[in-house]
Amino acid sequence: MPIGIAVPFLDLGAAYAELRGPLDEASARVLASGRFILGEEVEAFESEFARYCGARHCIGVANGLDALHLILRAYAIGAGDEVIVPSNTFIATWLAVTHAGARPVPVEPTPGTYNLDANRIEAAITPRTRAVIAVHLYGQCADMTAISDVCRRHSLRLIEDAAQAHGASWNTKCAGALANAAAFSFYPGKNLGAFGDGGAVTTSDSELAERVQVLGNYGSAIKYEHRYAGFNSRLDEMQAAFLRVKLRVLDTWNERRRRVAAKYVACLPTDVLQLPQVAGNGRPVWHLFVVRTANRSALQRFLADHGVQTLIHYPTPPHLQGAYSSMRYREGDFPIAESMHREVLSLPIGPHLTLEQIDTVVDACRAARFAGAVQ
Ligand SMILES: *Cc1c(COP(=O)(O)O)cnc(C)c1O
Repeated sequence: MPIGIAVPFLDLGAAYAELRGPLDEASARVLASGRFILGEEVEAFESEFARYCGARHCIGVANGLDALHLILRAYAIGAGDEVIVPSNTFIATWLAVTHAGARPVPVEPTPGTYNLDANRIEAAITPRTRAVIAVHLYGQCADMTAISDVCRRHSLRLIEDAAQAHGASWNTKCAGALANAAAFSFYPGKNLGAFGDGGAVTTSDSELAERVQVLGNYGSAIKYEHRYAGFNSRLDEMQAAFLRVKLRVLDTWNERRRRVAAKYVACLPTDVLQLPQVAGNGRPVWHLFVVRTANRSALQRFLADHGVQTLIHYPTPPHLQGAYSSMRYREGDFPIAESMHREVLSLPIGPHLTLEQIDTVVDACRAARFAGAVQ
């Protein structure tokens, strides 16, 4: 019997409720300042987030897609070039390459971690390959040791898509400081989420940082002097002020996500659900908790009937999307990604899930097994 939504997938209202005082203060401060673009808040956030990641520079931009796109443009990667991307990712990773004028070349992931399989990269490299974009999918870092190694051997740029991995680490180094440059998204549902769109590039390459900054501000370092045909892609003062408040609780909130994940790992029925594997050198921040089952639609329906809201990340891989129909991919071209997209289901996880709600999810998954919704 339907009991309404007992466990929403993510409760962003609770995030505001917890930080209401400082967030209201931040918005009042920005409104009173009369400065809304490229002011003190953005500057302060950039230096705070660079320090947090362990990178020399951070440049605020309008969103995560732009962060990736501007990195590629700043490296002059474009027409005639190829960039290796994971076959299973949110489509933004591919679109950034396409918008830069280059060609995305998909490589399959490792089934357990869902991240780019370093052993498959070499076979996809051609004389036109310029870079690899490693996505830290679901909040777990890709194998940056092995991927960096391949990139070094072939003189390729390595770019992190860290849109789902604020605070995640690999060998104790933080996402955002694991490659030549990294792209972050501050879309509201991300681990570090704004109250609107936002993004950032982090890098320790000063030349790249300067170029990204200029490209995102109409190609101009000095007002009304335009060195490049740039873009308008800036983080605004209001979002930067909100992000400064939320950055202060990022570690605490990631820790809460880890507690939810630990409980799921300990209690979910592993004979019927495939749980995410954590690579030995990584410390995930659990942007999503993704389980896998061949009976996905039955499980999703059963959980919904028991008040547990779930989502699918993602139902269709990029190569089978209309956006890439001109590349003439067919079903079966990337079977590992395709089977993931058919079987993955994201359970509720977030910093505001109550113990009771965690139990509700666990109990519903166990009941699904007894009801035969998953086998
Ligand atoms: C969210 C996301 C992006 C894009 O970020 P936007 O801010 O929505 O443009 C890129 N890559 C991945 C893996 C994402 O999850």
